[in-house]
Amino acid sequence: MVNVSHPVTLIPGDGIGPEVADATVRAVNATGVSIDWQRADLNASIISKSGQVLPPHVIESLERTHVGLKGPVTTPIGGGFQSVNVALRKQFDLYANVRPRFTDVTIDMVIFRENTEDLYSGLEHEVVKDVVTSLKVITRAASIRIAEYAFDFAQKTARKKVTAIHKANIMKLADGLFLKCCREVAGRYPAIEYKELIVDNASMQLVIRPETFDILLLPNLYGDIVSDLAAGLVGGLGVVPGANMGDRDAVFEAVHGSAPDIAGKGIANPTALMLSSSLMLIHLGEQAAAKRLRSAVERVYAEGKHLTPDVGGSASTTEFTDAVIAQVK
Ligand code: NAD
Repeated sequence: MVNVSHPVTLIPGDGIGPEVADATVRAVNATGVSIDWQRADLNASIISKSGQVLPPHVIESLERTHVGLKGPVTTPIGGGFQSVNVALRKQFDLYANVRPRFTDVTIDMVIFRENTEDLYSGLEHEVVKDVVTSLKVITRAASIRIAEYAFDFAQKTARKKVTAIHKANIMKLADGLFLKCCREVAGRYPAIEYKELIVDNASMQLVIRPETFDILLLPNLYGDIVSDLAAGLVGGLGVVPGANMGDRDAVFEAVHGSAPDIAGKGIANPTALMLSSSLMLIHLGEQAAAKRLRSAVERVYAEGKHLTPDVGGSASTTEFTDAVIAQVK
């Protein structure tokens, strides 16, 4: 049997990025899957010096591998830099942001956030001094695409309900179009229950009745905010994985940032990036290894002896990682 090595672009990032990336590479390698890690460094100083959020070496590597595992990158303040993530999503057309929330049996939701437009279009304008407008762009093409992605996922994974979240009572045209597209796609999936909730009410329901949600489908900005709210429900940013998916390329990364407050202290929680890498393994067709890695993380949590400080433990990044690796093997 030929042992295929999967090429993957590894972008450790900065802050706690390199710490959680090293831990994750160790854990993925422990599954026995052969990955050809192609490291592409990217951090605030490279961005400031090159004047580019996505320097050529990062683009070229991802164009070769089509799959990335990425740690957080600090967005340089000032200088008008776009965030790396926004640039990556646009460059590689990673239109679907998928954020599964795996926790206990009561909360189990997956968030589908449109990734390319909305208020992230970057179209801002000072009309006259001290009056600024920011354009919210919603298109039929992008809305249909993310809705199809969410319903297709629901069908493939036997999930029962998709809830579209909006503010169409106020933004009748923009959010109205988003909803119209969601309804159109929902009509093609009669077996999946379709519901709609206004974003403010959805936020309250998420806090008081999180177990009633299954798949959430949102435009970009609400998706960004609601994802962090949901992260808070399941133990914080250190445990929540994510994936940015396009039709050809995919970049897997945690939801959290570079956490400058704890960088270099050896206590960052690598769970989020490890679970992101488990999603990456599924994408690479390595389902068994993906499951083993995820189960190993879950067992370390169930045992509760080697957890990092952000989730109530006192273990270091390395101790937690060693415990996961011991379970993977
Ligand atoms: P953050 O997510 O870095 O940190 C928020 C809080 O959560 C901090 O107290 C931090 O210590 C804690 N935290 C986050 N991840 C953790 C982990 N794995 N283990 C333990 N604790 C963790 O958010 P921020 O402080 O708003 O952002 C810092 C920088 O990161 C900014 O420059 C921002 O632009 C950048 N950022 C990058 C990405 C990305 O590249 N994906 C995402 C968000 C923010």
